[in-house]
Amino acid sequence: MSLFSGAFLLRKKGGEFHQTYRPFTKRGSRNGPQKPIQLIIFFAAKLKDIFIKGRDYPWPRPDRCPRCKAHKLWGHGFVTALFDGYNQPLFLKRYRCPVCKCVIRLRPHGYFKRFQASVETIRSSISHRLKTGRWPPGLPHTRQGHWLRALRRKAAAFLKKGVKSALERGQVCL
Ligand SMILES: [Zn+2]
Repeated sequence: MSLFSGAFLLRKKGGEFHQTYRPFTKRGSRNGPQKPIQLIIFFAAKLKDIFIKGRDYPWPRPDRCPRCKAHKLWGHGFVTALFDGYNQPLFLKRYRCPVCKCVIRLRPHGYFKRFQASVETIRSSISHRLKTGRWPPGLPHTRQGHWLRALRRKAAAFLKKGVKSALERGQVCL
């Protein structure tokens, strides 16, 4: 769990969490720590194997940094992520590039970043909703609504980017 929450810094002290004011530093400024760029590499894996083996899962090591193409990556511990069907977080391996400092996280194919449900579950739910006007049974409507809103946001951003790009190329006149 992140120790940073909203405008406050939660600092562990004597076994309890104390709330303090966040220091006046701008992320990425000269005065503050710069958050490293994070990348995700999707790879074929079974969640069940990751669950059973935990930190001992034989994670593949990328042969180069996907950002700067440097050949040596360092292990950078694990992050935890929740997935549907598992009542505890699963450990996902991270690497760090010593050259460009980016952090690379491995994630199983078939799961969008920041989503616990599989891509297939999300696709099936949205498809059902768009065809029938109803959510399929079995999952909370609020959760499925969140998927549809996320899709709309992504689609709007994608289309906006496409129009902007076409404008820059002079293919569209307003
Ligand atoms: Zn790099």
